[in-house]
Amino acid sequence: MESTQEGLDPSPFFIMGKVALVTGAAKGIGKAIALKLAEKGHDIAINYFSSETDALYLQETIASAYNVHCLALQADVSREEEVDAMISQIESQLSYVDILVNNAGIDMPNLFQFKTAKDFRRILDVNVVGAFNCAKRVYRHMIDNKYGKIINISSTNGINTYYPMCCDYDASKAAMISLTHNLAIQCSPFVNVNAIAPGFIGTENELDGYDEEFLRQETDKILLKRYGKPEEVANLVAFLVSDEASFINNAIIRIDGGQYGSC
Ligand code: NAP
Repeated sequence: MESTQEGLDPSPFFIMGKVALVTGAAKGIGKAIALKLAEKGHDIAINYFSSETDALYLQETIASAYNVHCLALQADVSREEEVDAMISQIESQLSYVDILVNNAGIDMPNLFQFKTAKDFRRILDVNVVGAFNCAKRVYRHMIDNKYGKIINISSTNGINTYYPMCCDYDASKAAMISLTHNLAIQCSPFVNVNAIAPGFIGTENELDGYDEEFLRQETDKILLKRYGKPEEVANLVAFLVSDEASFINNAIIRIDGGQYGSC
């Protein structure tokens, strides 16, 4: 089935794009990705967990600024039945999901001695099982349609930038890389599955609570001597889902300004 917009009263200037689901898209990197993919002419499903006001505001912004359809949908990606209901709603109101960006993620930094198995499991559930749930729900259609793009937002923390306060988060981001390789095999040969590993990206959430000295130390580890912008990650996502990137598959792509000094 093509990404038609039946019953949605498209304007005569409607750009026939794909349907893109971005998880955790109300804020931060996910929001920048949703805006960039809308700019490229794709219909957008904004998934959010708790940020309803931000998600609805973004929905309005996209619908008024770009000639695409946009839906905001609440779901906890770690819960299979909520993911199923969310994607059924996208399918009935837009069409099948052609582009999936698994961006939703949580971190609960804490000293190792205060970490709990419960928190560890929650981080794995949202960051890894959430990505699995979404991919599992859409991959069959992508294969049948002989088209699909899946992008997992991992982190340099999943490769070689470890923080003692984030052992659970780091493990989850490493698991997303492994999941990417497995999904690429599972979805072969028509679906491109890639992971992006951002370094330090200056989202509101990331900057909140850090003092000047910490920010200076962190940016000092980056060759470009600054942190990245959410829009720079969004540009990479837009490239990866474009036809120009059609032979990029099963890749883990760092976007970190040239980070060094990691343990
Ligand atoms: P953020 O602003 O905290 O955004 C993460 C989003 O994930 C939130 O908006 C949240 O939605 C959503 N989320 C949390 N739990 C969820 C759940 N159970 N179901 C659905 N959505 C859920 O963080 P960010 O900095 O933009 O990060 C985005 C992604 O990039 C994350 O995967 C993060 O690990 C990764 N990353 C970030 C950096 C960085 O430096 N910022 C670096 C490397 C990787 P609600 O707000 O609606 O609750």
